[in-house]
Amino acid sequence: MSLTRRSFVGALGLAALRPTTDLLALEPLPTFPPAPEDDYDLLAKLHYNENPYGPPESVRAAMNKAYKYANRYGYPDGGIVETIASHHNVDPKYVLLGAGSSEILDVVGSAFASDGKRVVGVEPSYSFVYSHVASVRGSPLTIPLTSDYRQDIQALIRLTKKHYREVGFVYICNPNNPTGRIVTTREIKELVDGIPEDVPILIDEAYHHFVQDSDYATSIPYVTEGRRVIVARTFSKIAGLAGMRLGYGIAQPELIARMNPYVTDAINAVVKHAGAAALKDTAAQAQVKRVTLQLRRQTTDELRTLGYDVIPSEANFFMVHLKRPVAPVIAAFEKRAILVGRPFPPMTEHLRVSVGTADEMKRFMVAFKEIMSKRDA
Ligand code: PLP
Repeated sequence: MSLTRRSFVGALGLAALRPTTDLLALEPLPTFPPAPEDDYDLLAKLHYNENPYGPPESVRAAMNKAYKYANRYGYPDGGIVETIASHHNVDPKYVLLGAGSSEILDVVGSAFASDGKRVVGVEPSYSFVYSHVASVRGSPLTIPLTSDYRQDIQALIRLTKKHYREVGFVYICNPNNPTGRIVTTREIKELVDGIPEDVPILIDEAYHHFVQDSDYATSIPYVTEGRRVIVARTFSKIAGLAGMRLGYGIAQPELIARMNPYVTDAINAVVKHAGAAALKDTAAQAQVKRVTLQLRRQTTDELRTLGYDVIPSEANFFMVHLKRPVAPVIAAFEKRAILVGRPFPPMTEHLRVSVGTADEMKRFMVAFKEIMSKRDA
């Protein structure tokens, strides 16, 4: 992070940034830790699509219990693989753990698109998939989003067929980061049925838990049907465990076997217990979803009322069209101790904003009006 937090927090005055009690009264989810302890806590972190509340009590209790394994290699792992498998009704052989779903995305790249192979997908999307493939001497083969910021499935099918011999895998982020738009159940079926059946499709469902649209569904049933689909999931978003690093892939055992040599075994004891507890606490996840979607609606309604277009999002973030270059606006937010998404070329007039707490969204709106009221941010 380039900014010096102390400088701008000091300039603004700490008291100005403390959560206002009236908003917290409206906010049923306590944050963890509950009160700001240092300058970092005072930043409104609306740049990485995290869960601002942190893990619920049940998960923290599981983590506390697991600390006693810190000095062990062969510790009880909380049954994490079995818990994931039974959550999805698959055999444990279908589960591959990663230190974050990033590791799963990287492992798919290394296993299927290294050394001259291509990953087919759209841009902008979760670009680390493309940069990892490039780092293992493969390369991305991408098309732009449609005019309504969706992934053009028919065009992806045509592209995959045209470059069939070079294509290592197809990448679909659903919902897509940074737009928050979904690929529908029907479109996923068209893709799975429409490309040569030996081409794997990596479907990144990092934001799955926030979707409300009934035209959307997980792609895990394709795995159990025997298709070459790999679904990636993470504990970093709705489960609030980004700093602990845990994700997983669900795929046919034959594909898991091809990916296995590339995993690093870098997952710690504490997060394995946390992940197993998180999957069981469905009430906590439902509450995060409810509050997040309520705040997303409130904030995006306000932005639209001010005359800004917002891309309809099914995730815990949204993109607003600023009608001016985004880079200086991002910098202006940073000066106000508010971190927002980076630029996503070619969408250089769109700002991606993660949905934070009620207090953070209030800070965001105050800053937004102030920044956008000036000609130069
Ligand atoms: N996939 C998408 C679409 C993401 O947005 C992110 C993180 O922002 C990840 C994967 C990686 O998450 P993690 O490695 O923390 O599981």
